[in-house]
Amino acid sequence: MMNLPKNIQQPLSLIYLDANATTQVLPQAASAALSTMETLFGNPSSSHISGLQAKQIVDKTRQQAKRIVGAAEGKIIFTSGATEGIQTAILSALVNVKKTLNKSLNNKSYSLLYGATEHKAVPESLKHWNKILEINAEIKAIPVDEKGQLDMAFIAKEVPNALMVCTMAVNNETGVYQDISLLDQTIRTNNPNVAWMVDCVQALGKTDLVLAQTSIDYAPFSGHKLYAPKGIGFMYVKEKAPFTAFIAGGGQESGLRSGTENLPGLAALSEIFSMLLGESEASFTPIKTLHLYRQQLVSALTQAFPEITFNHSFENSVATTLNFAIPGFSSKEIMDLFDAANIRVSSGSACSSKVTRSFVLDAMGLPAWQSESAIRMSFGPAMTQTEIDIACSRIVSAAQALVQSCLTLDKKNIDTQTMNTSSTTNKTELDGLVQFKAGGSCSWLYVDKKTRSAVFIDPLSEVSERLQTLLTCRGLNLVAVIDTHGHADHKSCRNGIAKKFLAEQQTEYLGWPAGAQTTTIHGQTFQYLILGDKWLIKVATPGHTDDSMSLLLCDPVTDSAEKLQVHYAFCGDLILMDSIGRSNFSTSSAPAMYSSLKLMKSLIGNNSLICPSHDYHNEFTTCLETEMKRNSLLRQVINSEIDIEEFTSKKIKMDKDIINESGSEIMCGALIGACQKVVVREYDSASLTKAVKKSSDMKLIDIREPHEYALQHDEKFTSNVPLTRLVQFVKEQQQNKEQEFVLVCRSGGRSQLAAQALARLGFENVGHLKGGYALHQY
Ligand code: PLP
Repeated sequence: MMNLPKNIQQPLSLIYLDANATTQVLPQAASAALSTMETLFGNPSSSHISGLQAKQIVDKTRQQAKRIVGAAEGKIIFTSGATEGIQTAILSALVNVKKTLNKSLNNKSYSLLYGATEHKAVPESLKHWNKILEINAEIKAIPVDEKGQLDMAFIAKEVPNALMVCTMAVNNETGVYQDISLLDQTIRTNNPNVAWMVDCVQALGKTDLVLAQTSIDYAPFSGHKLYAPKGIGFMYVKEKAPFTAFIAGGGQESGLRSGTENLPGLAALSEIFSMLLGESEASFTPIKTLHLYRQQLVSALTQAFPEITFNHSFENSVATTLNFAIPGFSSKEIMDLFDAANIRVSSGSACSSKVTRSFVLDAMGLPAWQSESAIRMSFGPAMTQTEIDIACSRIVSAAQALVQSCLTLDKKNIDTQTMNTSSTTNKTELDGLVQFKAGGSCSWLYVDKKTRSAVFIDPLSEVSERLQTLLTCRGLNLVAVIDTHGHADHKSCRNGIAKKFLAEQQTEYLGWPAGAQTTTIHGQTFQYLILGDKWLIKVATPGHTDDSMSLLLCDPVTDSAEKLQVHYAFCGDLILMDSIGRSNFSTSSAPAMYSSLKLMKSLIGNNSLICPSHDYHNEFTTCLETEMKRNSLLRQVINSEIDIEEFTSKKIKMDKDIINESGSEIMCGALIGACQKVVVREYDSASLTKAVKKSSDMKLIDIREPHEYALQHDEKFTSNVPLTRLVQFVKEQQQNKEQEFVLVCRSGGRSQLAAQALARLGFENVGHLKGGYALHQY
């Protein structure tokens, strides 16, 4: 019986490089917080001894904060965090200007200025209070240059009409810092009295601050970005700056911020302040050393990914932040890779991690790919040399894992004559079908391991680099690169690949090689290519377009009267998941499509896997058996329940309702409603452990990509079926549909999709680990 271990991955110590999102609470801060919960738990407003002891903690922390930020006469007010500080500052400034504005005026001639790379808390709060207080000023973003530096000329021009200016000391995505004294000068020369807030969240502990030497009115800070717990922050308010309490109540904080103080948070913050002030036995790493750490990370990254691009200049950014992009890889892919190496990084800003681009890098005018692939590595002043060393060696191992799975080339070992890598040792061999996806479209690679022959079908330009790298890295012999039809909605990279790898080849159309052999099946003649022990048969299947063809990967034809043994049917947009390709292009023909569907049915089996050129809902593959159950129009054609005329009229009606869901992508299939939801068994850690103990037969499948699996797994317990090879897995397990499979991945997203796809295809016993390894308790 297989026992599920506590950790179904090999444990690796965590390397946390996402300090700009939040930090761990340092042990001394945690223990100070604990002691205020267990012993010094008084209410600072109480006049008994416990209260006095608590008040002393509040007072001490305030005095420390004043010294750290150079507040002099200014006030320090404790808050729940920076977002509250930002509200308080904006509310204070706007309530004050409201008094002087004529209520009946449309105030569009006034503006509220904020830096274009500001944390979302700033523009969103400006919008909010501008509306609530009916200020009706125009909210304007101050542009930044390619280095992330604020445009001083813009400020000089706009600030005379500004009711408030909001800037940041250090950017959270890039670490870029602003020249505060230049800003000060620019703002005050042009508007001596305008309220000015500087978000100092990412500056604390990373730059020197002497706020009293500036004319800054408000400066919010946050504890959790510097090793204190979440829920504690503070703000600096310049002496005599307008102030309106954001929270009223019991009059704590001299009436400026009511609510019983967060004593545990304050005690922890005080410990951090002691470290910053050099008053603690523990100390932070000096900034000079932090620069060396960043340099070491940069060297490791550059060694690991020679084509890396850094998204900011190191000259004007704090030592603790690195933002970069690796050509050919999305942020998500790199995050998955680093997560597998147990290194935590983030893509763009953690607060908006669902967004795939970085508005900060966009504002800096960086190319789209850099913004889409941005990765942020950030650390704090408690970082140690040991952690940096481990991080660097893991970064190099992670890059090697990409080389091993042929997603990048080992440039040192490449033979520039043949373009082959000299060593294919250790590389996981490729055999069979691989699916590549970009948006809702698919490309397919079929490889015969023995002969190393390969064919690309429907190669998308988005995956061009990846396909070429694979080909070179594995030393494959490309037999053909073929499109199933002239795609209207996306770009094919067929010509580019053919030019580079098949320069001598003569082709008929869409990449089908000229002079291919022919065979006869049921009296009809078809051309075919040989791929190891399989044939790739070309079948004209017009309808979606007049040039549409299907490519059937099957066993060689030995008897022309026998039924073909088709493993995969690459049918372009003829049959799609839960739909049939659209037939309202100028070269479309619904009657031809009817005949093509009939022909396909006569050639492929009910369980032959259909590999279309689109997969809008992550179903990966399908087969006639599955489609016949849910696609009534297809079923009617196949079962001859309708004739060509009826099909044509139904199809015309259907094509009218094609939904262009994504806005930009032409939906190539007439989608009938949304993706069919399939419910699969969900396990959590405990129920999976129990289920594994009960069932000796259960198979745990790790659905991550090979490079992620290589970095961290325990093959005693899981085998690897990457999502890109799921279709091949379906093929291999078609006779084994009652087998119990439980799929696992990093966060449960991919495993759920794959489990649903298997269930849809008739696998009876599939489940997945909800929340993935991330929530698996070990
Ligand atoms: N400002 C900046 C620059 C930040 O990085 C963050 C947090 O990500 C905030 C404001 C919000 O801080 P808090 O989480 O304390 O509300």
